Amino acid sequence: MASALTDKLSRLVKHISGQARITESNVADMLREVRMALLEADVALPVVRDFIARVKEKALGQEVIGSLQPGQALVAIVNQELAATMGEGVSDLNLAAQPPAVILMAGLQGAGKTTTTAKLARWLINQRKKKVLTVSGDVYRPAAIEQLKTVTAQAGAEWFPSTPDQKPADIARAALDYARKHYFDVLLVDTAGRLAIDEALMAEIKDLHSVLNPVETLFVVDAMQGQDAINTAKAFSDALPLTGIVLTKLDGDSRGGAALSVRQITGAPIKFAGTSEKLDGLELFDANRHAGRVLGMGDILALVEQVTAGVDMAAAQKLAEKVKRGDAFDLNDFLAQIQQMRSMGGLSNIMDKLPSQMAAKAGQVDMDKAEKDIGRKQGIIHSMTPLERRKPDLIKATRKRRIAAGAGVQVQDVNRLLKEFEQMQTMMKKMSGGGMMKMMKKLGG
Ligand code: GDP
Repeated sequence: MASALTDKLSRLVKHISGQARITESNVADMLREVRMALLEADVALPVVRDFIARVKEKALGQEVIGSLQPGQALVAIVNQELAATMGEGVSDLNLAAQPPAVILMAGLQGAGKTTTTAKLARWLINQRKKKVLTVSGDVYRPAAIEQLKTVTAQAGAEWFPSTPDQKPADIARAALDYARKHYFDVLLVDTAGRLAIDEALMAEIKDLHSVLNPVETLFVVDAMQGQDAINTAKAFSDALPLTGIVLTKLDGDSRGGAALSVRQITGAPIKFAGTSEKLDGLELFDANRHAGRVLGMGDILALVEQVTAGVDMAAAQKLAEKVKRGDAFDLNDFLAQIQQMRSMGGLSNIMDKLPSQMAAKAGQVDMDKAEKDIGRKQGIIHSMTPLERRKPDLIKATRKRRIAAGAGVQVQDVNRLLKEFEQMQTMMKKMSGGGMMKMMKKLGG
């Protein structure tokens, strides 16, 4: 993974920089690298072909906008197309059914169905305040029923007993009946998996589907499965009307190319990602964030490169000199800093590029919230007049109300921003001349 796609592309870009338009021949070179990156990420070959064709169509003849270099523009197109192929943004769970909303879990043995069932129970309890019942239809492996019992208890949900001498469809009917009578909001049904696709297994899960009429039929697939994922996904989506996918074991080494294959083959949105063996290791899947990982931008070098590219050294130098001279650090400078943050691709983009152990630690920070926060601050400063930005002292109650209304925020948000700005201003005053430049240089390696 050391030779990240960005490295290769930036080398290629050196040859073609200065050209205002992406041409057919340099696109071909760059697409060859993208193709390799996708294959290395274990995206299935037919899916890679389709994907490359779509990117090519978009890239050719497209004007390169503003300051972007052709290479960067292509990376942006690839990224957008990746996110679009994987479903763009976040796709939530559908619980709009007469309770109990039934969720049927399908997938091969070892994919993580039982673990995911318990994780989902916990997620529904904690995030959606639902009353959850689980049941296992795996009558072939008594240990699997026991496993579900144990993890359901850990998740704080209720487990409906089943035994190996029962028929899965009978278990399903009994569990559904119990869930209705006891006012459960959601019934999660774990099913038997085999090591490979077989007819009997497919017939059985189809039968379960018709008995249960689930609002969600989730296909659980191991992200490490790579090229094979495409066959499994096809078999399950031929047998069942899948409504979503759970991609498990994304905490592993895999670049998660299976996401692309499975999404394209089934047409179903990827709804969740499994990120650890523990019960809290389940997240709503975010296609935009996942795109960078598939492209193999997961090394620290790529991050450093991006950070230096994002930091405008001349602007940083100017700011440092301004501070040194003792000129006032005003809201324009503050805005410039926020924008710098954004030009590095935003927080979650940076997080995705950190090695996994570091990212796991930082993962405790709520990225969505942090990013929204940056956007909100930008919005607030944008609704100030140039005079207000230069002389923040002018901003009193009436102006605050106007600014808040302009940015669509509360007056408290404006106050918070001004307070933060003041703290930054104090810090800047204290900082001796070279401090800031030193910091920037350090970032640039
Ligand atoms: P099932 O046969 O499909 O029910 O699979 P299990 O739920 O028994 O999971 C198989 C193995 O994968 C177990 O050891 C789980 O702990 C592990 N597992 C499941 N999901 C994840 C995940 O998101 N990350 C990691 N690291 N392990 C997982």
